[in-house]
Amino acid sequence: MIEKMHSRKVLIVGGGFGGVKAALVLSRDPRFKVTLLSDSKDFVYYPKLYQAATEDIKSKSIIDLNVFFRDKKVNIIIDKAISLDRNAKQVITEKNLKLDYDSLILSLGSKTNYMGIPGLDQYSYEIKSIASIKRYKEHLHQQLVKNHRTDLNYFIIGAGPTGIELAGSLSKYLQAIIKNHNLKSHKPRITIVEAAPKLLPLFPVDTSRMVKKRLKRLGVTVLTKSFVKELTANHININDQLLPTESVVWTAGVGLNDFYANNNFALSSNHKVSVNVYLMAERDIYVIGDNANTPYSGMAQTALRDGKYVAVNLIRELDHKKPKNYYVKKPVTIIPVGSNWAAMIYGKLRIYGFIASIFRELADIVAYRELEINDREIKRIIFETKIEEECPVCQIAIDAKYLG
Ligand SMILES: Cc1cc2nc3c(=O)[nH]c(=O)nc-3n(C[C@H](O)[C@H](O)[C@H](O)COP(=O)(O)OP(=O)(O)OC[C@H]3O[C@@H](n4cnc5c(N)ncnc54)[C@H](O)[C@@H]3O)c2cc1C
Repeated sequence: MIEKMHSRKVLIVGGGFGGVKAALVLSRDPRFKVTLLSDSKDFVYYPKLYQAATEDIKSKSIIDLNVFFRDKKVNIIIDKAISLDRNAKQVITEKNLKLDYDSLILSLGSKTNYMGIPGLDQYSYEIKSIASIKRYKEHLHQQLVKNHRTDLNYFIIGAGPTGIELAGSLSKYLQAIIKNHNLKSHKPRITIVEAAPKLLPLFPVDTSRMVKKRLKRLGVTVLTKSFVKELTANHININDQLLPTESVVWTAGVGLNDFYANNNFALSSNHKVSVNVYLMAERDIYVIGDNANTPYSGMAQTALRDGKYVAVNLIRELDHKKPKNYYVKKPVTIIPVGSNWAAMIYGKLRIYGFIASIFRELADIVAYRELEINDREIKRIIFETKIEEECPVCQIAIDAKYLG
């Protein structure tokens, strides 16, 4: 009888936006035996990651997977998916587990793509995980505090939303380090570099213009039509001009998770996994989120929708109902640029400034709710103001401010 109740094994790989959402929806139906395999015990809420890089309120961006599934029947396995045995219907992991599935949902997220530019993989920093942020912040401290350097150039490559968010908040963070350590006053030079003719190349012209104006007000230099050709330990080559720097963050390229190419998935011309109208890449294998070739993949809202969509169709299948076709929905984009200012774009609607920054806070609450985090936990996350710094001197200064 119990065997019958758990008649359908669904293996979900990837504990991010798409994978967690699919697991949450399926866990409500006792006919499914749901396993969530992820290579990290933490879910990363990427939209708040730039804040962790410049303020370090980690609890807003890092959430233990168990928080989502405390009272749910989902078997969580922390391990890395390495290969796929299509005949045996098994995923093989780094620890050599062989995990069976009837249906497989892959939501593996994207990886950084350095586009073959020499030196980037060795010398640039990235905003992609708590570990990469920690490395960047340690470097910023090292330069300012230990080396007492006063002529630093900070570069952010890529003027998409991630680069813009970081550029908007970096200056305040550097000024805080300078103040906390009583360093000789100097104004950090922050430059954002974009190869396209305008900032936010995929967004409307007026949005690019407004964001550029805002960045300039925050003291950020904007370089467009500028190509990074090489990075060394202490120079960046932009349009064949060598500029001194040791602080370069690369946000300009994302690529497909290696699992797909390693396991011979059919790819589209834009290097994403080809999927049909049910987000199916192959029989019984669904690919969702960043790696699926859908019009708005690359956004958290899309991954959440994909996860829910595939889960609902699996439930319909067990109910002997026809699966629904996938339909695309244009996500709302809200890009924070410094404190209390954001650019909001939704179709023809544009809102800039403080109001948009409020919408951004609301959008985060909606996303946390989509992830079925309970209200008490959401309140804790949203109203968490306690900043944790690795640097003891900065921490003392923050605690003093925090305690009033
Ligand atoms: C800095 C940054 C800011 C962003 N800001 C926004 C924003 O403001 N709004 C927005 O809509 N989108 C934003 N995004 C994009 C958004 O975060 C992604 O679109 C979303 O995370 C994609 O969801 P996913 O499920 O496809 O992948 P992810 O959420 O990345 O999850 C993938 C999961 O798979 C795991 N994994 C990877 N490989 C394996 C493996 N081989 N075996 C097991 N597990 C594996 C990973 O550890 C991870 O847990 C941002 C992205 C970044 C990097």
